[in-house]
Order: sequence, then C-alpha cells, then structure tokens
Amino acid sequence: MTDTLTARTTRPASALSGPDAARIAAAPGPATVDRIAHVALSSVVLPLATPISDAKVLTGRQKPMTEVVFLVTEITTESGASGIGFSYSKRAGGPAQFAHAQEIAPVLVGEDPADTARIWTKLTWAGASVGRSGLATQAIASIDVALWDLKAKRAGLPLAKLLGSHRDSVRTYNTSGGFLHTPIEQVIDNARASLEAGIGGIKLKVGQPDWRLDVARVTAVREALDPDVPLMVDANQQWDRATAMRMGRILEEFGLVWIEEPLDAYDAEGHASLTRRLDTPIATGEMFSSVAEHVRLIDAGASDVVQPDAPRVGGITPFLKLAAYAEHHHLDLAPHFAMEIHLHLAAAYPIEPWVEHFDWLSPLFHEELETRDGRMYVSERPGLGFTLTEQARAWTVARAEVGKRP
Ligand SMILES: [Mg+2]
Repeated sequence: MTDTLTARTTRPASALSGPDAARIAAAPGPATVDRIAHVALSSVVLPLATPISDAKVLTGRQKPMTEVVFLVTEITTESGASGIGFSYSKRAGGPAQFAHAQEIAPVLVGEDPADTARIWTKLTWAGASVGRSGLATQAIASIDVALWDLKAKRAGLPLAKLLGSHRDSVRTYNTSGGFLHTPIEQVIDNARASLEAGIGGIKLKVGQPDWRLDVARVTAVREALDPDVPLMVDANQQWDRATAMRMGRILEEFGLVWIEEPLDAYDAEGHASLTRRLDTPIATGEMFSSVAEHVRLIDAGASDVVQPDAPRVGGITPFLKLAAYAEHHHLDLAPHFAMEIHLHLAAAYPIEPWVEHFDWLSPLFHEELETRDGRMYVSERPGLGFTLTEQARAWTVARAEVGKRP
C-alpha cells in the first residue's frame, strides 16, 4: 500500500512498467476537479391530450389544465460531462421560473459541479430578495437536479445508487386515470389498463361539490377491482374541516391507502386532527415550495404520508434534508409527480415508499421507466437516466445560454 502511494506521488503510472504499472492502474486515481463550462436553459411547453380537472376546477378555483411548462437545465463541464434537470409549473409561472433561472445561472460558470450543497446556497443568495420558496426556489430546482444527474453520471451510477438505495424498485400507483373530468366507466377501464401495465395502486380524485358522487365513484371502483388493489383518494384541498372529518369516516370502510389533501395545504391543525382521529392515513405536502413549510406540518403531526415534490421544494439537495427529517418522524413517503426524479429519491428512503406514475412526460424523453408487478424499477442507466427528445426541442419556446461549450 505504501509503495503504491509513494509511486503515485513521485511519477505517473504511465512511466512505470511491469507489476508496478498494473497495481497502480488498479488503484483509485486522484480525485478529479471539473468546472461548469456551459449552462443551457429551455422553457418547454408540453401539451396535454385532454384538459385535466380536479376538485379545484369543479369548484371554480382553477381552469382545466391544458399544458405543463417545464424549465429544463442542461449543464456541461470543461471535461465534457453533462447533466440534465427540470422543474415545472402548471397553469402559470413558467415564464417567471425561466426568467429567474436566466438571471442567476451566470454564477454557475467555473464552479465545481460536485459542490451541489454550496452551489444551491449560492444560487439561493443570488436571488435572495425574492425569497427561499415559490418560483425562485423552483428555478433553482431545475439546476440542482441537473447537478445531481451530472454527479451520478460522473460516478457511473444511477442516482438512487449514488444516494444509497434501499431497494431497486418502488411501489407505484396511477393518478392520471382517475381525474374528475373522466366518466366513471372510463376511470374503471383506465384502472384496469394501469394494473395490466404493472402499476399496482389506483388513485381517484374526490372533492366534488356533491359528496355523494365521490362516494359513488369510490364504491364503483372498489367493487370493480380485485379487493387487494391498493386505492387512494385525493381531495386536492377541497374540504373544510367538518366535511373532511365526515368524509374521512365514510371512507374508512374502503380500506384506503391514504386520503390526500383533505384540507387546505397550510391547515396544519386541521390535518393533525384528522391524523389522530381517523384510521385511514392522511397524506399531504405536494403544494409546498420549501422544506420549512414541510417541517411546520411534520412538527404539528399533520400527516402520516409526506408528499414532497423535489422540483417544487428547490431540488434534490433540499429534498434529501426533508427526507431525513421525515424519516426521523417515522413517516411514510409518497413524492408528488415527476416520477423520473422521484423514483431515485424514493428508492433511497428507508421506509417502503410509493411513487406516483404519470406518463405525461414520456414525449420529452427517449427512455421509458419499467413497471411490473405493481412496482417501478430503477434503470441501470447512470444519473436520472433520461435524454431529451427532438419533440422536447420542438416544444421549446424560450432558450438561454451562459458560458462556453467545451
Ligand atoms: Mg395530489
């Protein structure tokens, strides 16, 4: 061992021959320092095949969703390594996320891309005047995800492996088949198709103005499917406290995996009361755009299942801090949306998690995620394991670059 170290510090391996050269070639080389050379930001508008409605639409708070806007970040280093990340917005905020990222991206050039934690802080301070949550944080998220993708690719590992996996596959459930605009017969057909595609759980939207319609739809799906199929419902913050308690009690008989967002996202006390009084687990957290907001709810005992969204909370760097906090509180984890990122993060969570299956993003990437026997599998591709399609380029409505390509 001493010989190897001495040899490496006194002369390069290429100058050696015989057994010494072979031994040194097998030993780990010195750590490499790379530098960010070029950053490209793209605003990509993904159209949805059908306008989407949940409870927020049925009660007039929002319009049906017709598109999702992605902020895509591509980072290239001086050595030619690259990483890709994204965050997103629904209905509004896409141009603002893009504009904020464009303003702060110049501070990346020349940084060592391995310094993900320091870079996250630097980006936050670059735009500190507009806060540490909301769309400013989501602009940072796209960059942070790209840096983690790059880090894992440089290590030659899937991101889940770099983080330290607990498992190679994660339980997965379908959401996109159970929206409120979809007739119940179609919801049941969608559920059967999901199960056949290897997606194990089925989530239904609820929170309609007439609660009896919600119960009728849950009943119809429960009766149509094998009783062992895991079912969840999602009220998208639609109920007041009394309605949520009443609905929670009515829904107990269905053995749901969870009731999602029964109340306003920021009603910590209301959620905590449901968590204490109902057998069915309560899930919430998708709306939060900072770890601090999650911590407040966790401290209040407001949920059994935390549902962070890495693009919304600022990327993988803050997500990992939140995941550690959730683990200390023995909470279940079911990240919201963006399965392309969350599969890796869920695979590294100690308590058996769920990942939400949405096929909406598939036109953006060449690669598909494998689902089988109710689980989604981490691929063997390094990093996140995705590359952008020409279709994604064609849907790009704005692009900005800083630095120079190597
Ligand atoms: Mg939800």
